[in-house]
Amino acid sequence: MNELETFRQETRAWLDENCPPGVRGPGYVPIGSTKIKLEPDTRLWLERMIEKGWTVPGWPKQYGGAELNKDEYRVLIEELQRINARPPLTGRCVNYIGPTILEMGDEAQKAKWLPVCARGEGAWAMGYSEPGAGSDLASLSTRAERSGDRWIINGSKIWTSDATYCDYIFVLCRTSPDKPKHEGISLLLVDMDQPGVRVSPITLISGDSTFCETFFDNAEVPLEDVVGGVDNGWTVGKRLLQFERSTHAGINTSGSQGGRVEKDKVRETLLDYVGLADGRLADSSMRERLTRFEMNTAAQRLTQKRAVEESKAQAPGFTSSAVKLTNALNVKEGDELIVEAMGSSGLRWDPATAAADELAKTKTWLHRKHMTIAGGTQEVQMNIIAKRVLGLPD
Ligand SMILES: Cc1cc2nc3c(=O)[nH]c(=O)nc-3n(C[C@H](O)[C@H](O)[C@H](O)COP(=O)(O)OP(=O)(O)OC[C@H]3O[C@@H](n4cnc5c(N)ncnc54)[C@H](O)[C@@H]3O)c2cc1C
Repeated sequence: MNELETFRQETRAWLDENCPPGVRGPGYVPIGSTKIKLEPDTRLWLERMIEKGWTVPGWPKQYGGAELNKDEYRVLIEELQRINARPPLTGRCVNYIGPTILEMGDEAQKAKWLPVCARGEGAWAMGYSEPGAGSDLASLSTRAERSGDRWIINGSKIWTSDATYCDYIFVLCRTSPDKPKHEGISLLLVDMDQPGVRVSPITLISGDSTFCETFFDNAEVPLEDVVGGVDNGWTVGKRLLQFERSTHAGINTSGSQGGRVEKDKVRETLLDYVGLADGRLADSSMRERLTRFEMNTAAQRLTQKRAVEESKAQAPGFTSSAVKLTNALNVKEGDELIVEAMGSSGLRWDPATAAADELAKTKTWLHRKHMTIAGGTQEVQMNIIAKRVLGLPD
């Protein structure tokens, strides 16, 4: 038996013994928040995976990882999928800020923050967007000024996902207002549990409220908590965005993405609502769109696999923009097909008249419209692909 096969057998045996029944199948995946109480099996799974180093399987052992190589990582994911296990931990800690610190932080920052991320001891929010700085992120105006051994932050961020549950926030701030706009920015690590940070939720079209506005009023940060150097935040912040986009694209191998494969509801829903005629989907236009959707889904999976194999880091560079975009467009096409096939049942909103599973599909359709906006819009990704991948002129 070769080494990888031995690793597979050992992993399978360990998972069979240690993965509790309550985390096999759909359900909540922790983001490390100290404000959310976990179900007993979810907590146990997290603790066992932390001990094994498998919340961040590819990270160095000294920071809480298991130093798995890419092949071992793939085997771990396959074995998690085999038993339909949920990831033990997800979110901006293990997927965005953790790998950014690992790549661009100094030794003291790695020692201070990475074990905290790996152990899920604090959820992170992302403080990038501002009312006047979304796609044009470099126009941000939240300022951080030096005062003794601290940075003092003033300003506000918007669309900060999950901020009400988060313990920390990484914030792009203007640290040198007199420099050209891309050169005077820094990425600061901020403890949200302080009087200078205030969070206010925003309600979404889907009825949920995961979004917030976050206000900084003389918030304080120790001088050393600037990642990648003062005024180097544009470079650091862009790399973090690649980790975010890779996560949206399903090609970030930093955290453990876990094994749960979402059941494909598109074919199933079309069969239920459109029905069959002569052994084929009754509506020819829907038939054609379903075929195209399923071909694109298969192509997307192969592209994801190739992107992971080709990347030397835990997330690829500009490839992340392309795979994020095609993934988002494909998911949205699947949701559109579902809602169209459901006809008027797809547009019911009142829980008193709509069946629970239909309402869930409608909410998913509305919710996932964000996929071509979050992490940089469709147009911004196309600009990046044109400039950075295809080498087209500005
Ligand atoms: C679900 C979700 C979660 C989010 N979570 C966070 C978070 O946690 N933290 C955070 O900081 N932000 C978050 N965001 C914000 C997100 O990053 C921004 O919404 C996004 O970058 C777009 O910025 P904007 O909303 O200001 O739109 P704008 O930048 O105002 O864009 C408006 C429109 O103009 C187009 N446009 C703008 N510039 C160009 C250009 N140069 N070329 C072509 N078209 C252009 C855009 O594509 C878009 O269609 C989240 C957004 C969503 C939807």
